Amino acid sequence: MQIVPLPPIRSGFLFVFAIAMLLTGAGCQPNLPPANRVFVVQPFKGISTEDIKAVYEKLLKVNPKGVLKPPTALPLNAYYRSGNRYRADSIISYLAKFGNADTVIIGLINHDISTRNVKATDWGVMGLGCQPGNACVISTYRLNKTKIADQFYKLALHELAHTQGLPHCPNKTCFMRDAEGGNYLDEETGFCKSCTAFLKSKGWQLPN
Ligand SMILES: [Zn+2]
Ligand SMILES: [Zn+2]
Repeated sequence: MQIVPLPPIRSGFLFVFAIAMLLTGAGCQPNLPPANRVFVVQPFKGISTEDIKAVYEKLLKVNPKGVLKPPTALPLNAYYRSGNRYRADSIISYLAKFGNADTVIIGLINHDISTRNVKATDWGVMGLGCQPGNACVISTYRLNKTKIADQFYKLALHELAHTQGLPHCPNKTCFMRDAEGGNYLDEETGFCKSCTAFLKSKGWQLPN
């Protein structure tokens, strides 16, 4: 999933729409971020050390400039009682406050997360990231429990690539495939050629 910043406001209707999107997409940036950003992993309390390490240590191979923060409490305003889950856009807004143009922060959570989309006001997702921006969040909740390490890492790369400005990709084996409510992570084998080229231009250390 991604949050895409809206184009400039031109009419009254767009203004109302834009306010709603800007609130949910707070922290997203209108311009493409610089290359070679430091990535900051921020776990939320409840997620296992094993799941944190699975993501952090593999991400270091793609970008050696990483920081692992100690687990922190979830922001109370992100809790959505009627769904008994957390709003991914609220978590992103919270995380974005700790970042700047030269960093990207990725939140790790074990609870279910959701966002608003064209189909529903509370749509469960595996992850959500600004496109582009400096924050994203991923959850273990909807992953295959026997393959969490592998799937969590693929999800991290997907959302971090969104924050770099990379959109979804039509290639079914590419990490940038749109999940569209499902979990196709096992079918994804890597970034396709064009997504790889884009990310390498941003300083990602990916194989050809
Ligand atoms: Zn996505
Ligand atoms: Zn691709």
